[in-house]
Parts: sequence; structure tokens; C-alpha cells
Amino acid sequence: MTILLATLGTLAAGLAAVAFIGPLRRSLIARHLLEQFRRVMPAMSRTEQEALEAGGTWWDAELFSGRPDWSRLRNLPPARLSPAEQAFLDGPVEQLCRMLDDWRITHEDMDLPAEVWSFIRRERLFGLVIPTRYGGLGFSPLAHSEIVMKLASRSITAAVTVMVPNSLGPAELLLRYGTQTQRDRWLPGLASGEEIPCFALTGPKAGSDAASTPDIGVVCRGVFKGRPTLGVRIDFDKRYITLGPVATLIGLAFRLTDPDRLLGDDPQPGLTLALIPADTPGIERGRRHLPLGIPFQNGPLVGRSVFIPVDWVIGGRDGIGKGWRMLMESLSEGRGISLPALATGGGKLAARYTGAYARIRRQFGRPIGDFEGVEAALARIAGRTHQMDAARRVFLAALQAGEHPAVLSAVLKYQLTEAYRQVINDAMDVQGGSGICLGPANPLGRVYQAIPIAITVEGANILTRNLIVFGQGALRCHPHVLEEFRAAGDPDPVRALERFDAAIAGHVGFLIRNLLRTLRDGLTGGRLAARPIEGWLGRHYQRLDWLSSVFALNADLAMMTLGGSLKRRERLSARLGDILSLLFMAACTLKHHEDQGRPEADRDLVEWAMADHLIRIQDALVALWRNFPRRGLARGLRRVCFPTGLPFEGPSDALEHRVARLILEPGAARDRLTAGIFESRDPSLAVGRIELALAAATHADEVQDVLRAAVRQGRLADHDASTRLREAVAARLITAEDAAAVREAEQLRDAVIGVDSFVELRPRQRRIQDESRAAA
Ligand SMILES: Cc1cc2nc3c(=O)[nH]c(=O)nc-3n(C[C@H](O)[C@H](O)[C@H](O)COP(=O)(O)OP(=O)(O)OC[C@H]3O[C@@H](n4cnc5c(N)ncnc54)[C@H](O)[C@@H]3O)c2cc1C
Repeated sequence: MTILLATLGTLAAGLAAVAFIGPLRRSLIARHLLEQFRRVMPAMSRTEQEALEAGGTWWDAELFSGRPDWSRLRNLPPARLSPAEQAFLDGPVEQLCRMLDDWRITHEDMDLPAEVWSFIRRERLFGLVIPTRYGGLGFSPLAHSEIVMKLASRSITAAVTVMVPNSLGPAELLLRYGTQTQRDRWLPGLASGEEIPCFALTGPKAGSDAASTPDIGVVCRGVFKGRPTLGVRIDFDKRYITLGPVATLIGLAFRLTDPDRLLGDDPQPGLTLALIPADTPGIERGRRHLPLGIPFQNGPLVGRSVFIPVDWVIGGRDGIGKGWRMLMESLSEGRGISLPALATGGGKLAARYTGAYARIRRQFGRPIGDFEGVEAALARIAGRTHQMDAARRVFLAALQAGEHPAVLSAVLKYQLTEAYRQVINDAMDVQGGSGICLGPANPLGRVYQAIPIAITVEGANILTRNLIVFGQGALRCHPHVLEEFRAAGDPDPVRALERFDAAIAGHVGFLIRNLLRTLRDGLTGGRLAARPIEGWLGRHYQRLDWLSSVFALNADLAMMTLGGSLKRRERLSARLGDILSLLFMAACTLKHHEDQGRPEADRDLVEWAMADHLIRIQDALVALWRNFPRRGLARGLRRVCFPTGLPFEGPSDALEHRVARLILEPGAARDRLTAGIFESRDPSLAVGRIELALAAATHADEVQDVLRAAVRQGRLADHDASTRLREAVAARLITAEDAAAVREAEQLRDAVIGVDSFVELRPRQRRIQDESRAAA
């Protein structure tokens, strides 16, 4: 025994000496690890490097730490609209919503009507983000989001039309990178709507891999407006360009080459952006694509030998070759605003409309929302909408506080557009035929059709999930990995070893801390984890605290053992990204509930949202371990993380039942969940009729209960509905007003369940079809 203790003691002392004596550690451990690291570290292209440097980190870095500082999230002031922003939403945006007739837009005109175009331009809806000194509205990200969300609940075509000039496009690029002359030249016209902008990056050969665009601009001398000018001659072939067919100002991305070195020493400056008036000779535009029946202006743009002065490059000479960086930096925030707003608008519309529909539509003698299968779908609609809105609001609060969370913007885009897809799919199931038959009576059909557009644009979702979220998240947010990368790339061998050694020493301590925390929390069900507040909400914070150390440990070991191959193993990377994303979304759920003053009526929504987040995090972990190539490590991780078995079970049937009820009946929780979308009580609108029918159904059903009870007790004969009503009034079982209310509710119900039919299905304007037939 003494010998054993002595041996262990010597071993421990040796290890401690190696670990704590710097030079020894460097030569025995760090040098060897550095060689290994260099072998496995993934090569990073210039575009990847630029993407990585764009934007910053925020709460994602806290989650990666395995020990999030909850006060940083909880103390973030909620985003609030200014009085001017609120007035704009209640005034011009409300008015625009009333002007929009989505059926006419999507079926008959295949465009916004001229008066809507004029209204959008006149009211400066294209200038939401342009500062007031240039004539724009200078609104906050929250106002921008609320405007797009409200419009999306009325017409996706209008929402996309307004959204695009306010997200990644000429105005944003000018504000960030333009020269003062360029800003003064273009921003007033963009703000007043005199100019219609588009941004053209994508082409037939460059979609997701946009940086590989074959569109080339060659620096050369030419003649512009009769004067010899140093310029760029560009050939380009772009497609899918939103507002392209009607744009007056094109933001164009192309690869700049300078074979004669007229601009400097570099013959290949690379991706460059320029602002080009659409009437510049050589530009062909006007043709349109038809994106799944959502007829916002979108089409190809072709340029042949288009000569532009070099001053048209955004940022002038300083902007040459900086195009990719500009795009990545602009995308790193904008991606988290517009499409998440559109997605949440769709979700809120479904929660409000389909919830009410399920209450009004009766089958087998009961509202369909009473059936358990429909309840499950309704609970998902309500719960996911709550998750979406929470993440949207918290992300906007972070932007408003001056954060620039690049990876979280990708998380928002991916998670909210996927949730939009799931919510609308559930809504379509509940609506049955009434969701399928298009027409003015169906407010959801076009929202359904638009889903793949939201999924594809601003970073297609498969790519975003598999490549961006964890790939960029790990490098940006991990407290040590980026420094290890930088150290390994340091050309000075002595400095490289010193830097790497320091980073590795910190990394090992970090790993051990997370391992111990994970074990402790796994054994106690997270009961010893941080709990920033008491009560049921505090218990949820504890679970997230626990799971964040689980995530940090798994992410670390995956990176350590798989190294650069993790980039190719997209499925594993996607699952790690899902865990990160869902932890963020779940944290937003809790924060949002607190920001709303913790209304008790919303507790079931929050419980559903959390149960759903937690089970999805657990599923992602299980799938990660099941497919992890190092089998022994995967088994070990599972035992360390969840030593007493899988802890989460997802929402129960009873919880689903309670959550479904929240959108089946009028009430404060329903109003809070769907706040900010277009609402109406106008019987000529489908969304107005359903509100009237829901209000009427609540009272009418109470009367019907009295009648049914009377029939059961033999006090009333089981006649047809109208005779029964008459006799019930005569027998003084109900009042004449009650009977009138039941009749009115029935009429409204009939109006709601009615679907459109047509004598002639062909739209009045068939210009687009005729043209494409002619082209074929
Ligand atoms: C309606 C609409 C409007 C648009 N508006 C504009 C605009 O205004 N300006 C503009 O420049 N562009 C615009 N786009 C282009 C849009 O950004 C691209 O469609 C998008 O980048 C995807 O390119 P792609 O369609 O060629 O698909 P592809 O690049 O061919 O991708 C197809 C699929 O492969 C996946 N994929 C590709 N590479 C990987 C990978 N490495 N790992 C995993 N999955 C991968 C993608 O996620 C996608 O699911 C618009 C597109 C549409 C449809």
C-alpha cells in the first residue's frame, strides 16, 4: 500500500510539475499538441476568414462558456418602440394594411397596385433604416421588425417588397461603407422612394457559394459622358433579384480584376460592390420570375460590357476588393431582422386565425379544436409562435443595446423560418380544405406558399444549419479555440509555441471545469446549477445552465477529437449547432416572459415552449452520440451528461390541452401572443369575419349548452335547430336576444367556413404566363 501511494504521489507530482512548470509543459506537451493541431486544423479560405471577422458575439459566447452569466441576459433592457415609431405603425402601416388586397395582388394583378407602390414610396417605407438627415425615417431594428411582421400578416408580397430595401441592400451598404459623396448622392432619393433599389449577388453559377461568382469587372480606361474616365467594364448574369425588374439603382457584386494594374499592385482585388443606375447602357432588365405565386418583383438582371466610373464602387477606391467583407458584415445583423419578422408574422396569423377557426368549425357535433389530435397541432402552433416571438424580441433588444451578434443572426434566420414552416404546416392541417382552396376567404394559403422563399433566401437553411451556426459559432465564441488557431498560424515558431501553450493551458482548465460541472448537474438534475430567480421560472434557468455546460463539454470534445473533419461532417456540426440555437431560443423564452411582466396566464405557453426546447436539445444530443465516430467517447459522454437516464420528456398531453385552449378562446394570452399583426373586425375581410364569429360563438355556445341540457332532461323536443330555438324562447328557457345571438353566430360561422369558388379561374392579367410561353 505504501509503495502504491508513493508511486501515485510521484506520478501526481510529475504531472503537476509538467503541467505547472512552463518550459517543461511547452516542450513536452504543447509542442506535440501544436504539431497535431496543425495537422487536423481545417484550412480557412479568405472568404471564411472575412465571414468570421464580420460582426461580434453576444449571448452565444456565454453559452459556449458552459457557465452563462444570466445577469447579462436578464438585465438587457427590452426593446421598445418610440412614440414616433408606434404612431407610424398605427398610422401609415395600418392604412397600408387596409389598402392591401392580397388576392388581387397574387392572382389578378400579379403585382402591387400602383396606388400601393406610390403609398409605400411616399410614406418612406423604403427608407426605414435611413437616418432622418437624409430624409429617411431613422427607425430602430424593433420598428423595422414590427412593420415587416404586420405587413406579412396581411400580404407576403407587400412585406417582401418593403423588407428588401431595408435589409441588405444599397442603403445599408452606403450607410456603412459609402463615401460621403455617394451617401449625399443616393440616400435622399432612396429615402423618398424616388429610387427603387435592388441588390444583385446571386447568379446561375453562384448560389450558396456566392463568393465564387463568375461575373467579372475589368479595370480599364474608357469614355464616360464624353470624358476619358478610369472605370470598370463589367459582364454579369444575375438571377432571383428582388425588385430587379423595377429597380432604378442596382447594387452589384462582381469580381474585380486589374490586369494592367491601373489601380495598384494587385491584379486580382476580388469581390467588389458598386452602385449602378439601372439605365446604364448594357443592362437588360424587366423580365420576371414567379416565386411560388408570391408576385413581388423578382427577376434576372444581365449586363453586357457595362462601363462604370471607378467612383461608383461602394466606398470608392477604399472599397475595392472589400465586397465580401461588406456583405458579411451587413448580413451579420440584417439577417436576424427581416425574415424572422416575416416568419413571426406568419406564425402569429396562424395562431390567431387557425385557433379561432378550430373553435368555430364543428364536426361530429363539436368544435374541431376539442379533438385531441387537433389540440396537439394547435398547441404546437401557439407554443412555436411564442418561441419565435420571444427570440425575435430578445435579439432586437440586443441590437438596440449595440450588440452585433453575427452567429445569432444566422440562428434567428434558420430557427424562425423553420418554425414558420412547422407552424403553417400545422395550421394547414387544421384548416383542411379551407386552407387549400385559394381565394379572398383564405388568408393562409399564400403564407404557406411563401415558406420556401423564406427558407432559401439570405442563406439557405440547410447550409446555415450545417455549416454556419456551429462552424462559425465555435470559432467565434469558444474562449480558447480562436486563439489556438491564431497561434498555430503564427509564422514565428517561438511565439507560436508560447501563444499556443498559453491557450492550451487555459483550454484544459476550461474543459476540466465543464466536465466537473456537467457531472455534478447530471447527478443532481441541475439542482445545484445557477438559479437567478426563485420559483418555476428559476428551475428552467437551472436546466439551461446545466445544459450549457453539457453543450460546452460536447462541443469541446468534438472539436478536439474530430478537428478539421468536423467541417465535412455536416450532420454532427448541425446537431451541435442545433443545441446552441435551441439553448439560445430557450433562454429567450424565459427572458421574454420576464420582460412581459411574467403574466400568469402565459405560464402554460412558457412551459410548453421550454418542454419543447429541452426535448429537442436532448434529441440532438442523443443523435450526436449515436453517430459520433469515437464510440467509446460517445458512450462516456452520455453517461457523464445524463448519468441517471434521459431527463426530458417533452410537453405532456395535459399541457398541450391547456395551451391549445389559449388560442381557441378570446383572451389576454391570445392577444399577447399575436400582438402586432393586422387585426380587424371588418366583415368584408376573412380575418375580420373570424374575430366576429369567435366572439359570437362564445356566447352562442353557452346558449346551446342550455338547449342541449333541456333536450337531455326532456324539457325540449329534439327538433331541427331553428324550431328548437323558437320553442326554447316560448318555453322561456332562453331569451329572444339569446336566440338572435345563436342565429347570428351561425351566420358568421357559415361565412367563416365558406371557401371561394370561381366561374373563371384564369386571372385577368396573364402577361407573365404569355411571355414565358412565348420565350419557350
Ligand atoms: C425569391 C428569391 C429572392 C431572392 N432575392 C435575391 C436578391 O435580391 N439578391 C440576390 O443576390 N439573391 C437573391 N436570391 C438568391 C438566394 O440568396 C439564393 O437562392 C440562395 O443563396 C441559394 O442559392 P441557390 O438557389 O442557387 O441554391 P444552391 O446554392 O444551388 O443550393 C441548393 C441547396 O443546397 C444547399 N447547399 C449548398 N451548399 C451547401 C453546403 N456546403 N452544405 C450544405 N448545404 C448546402 C443549400 O442550402 C440549398 O438547400 C433570391 C432567391 C429567391 C428564390
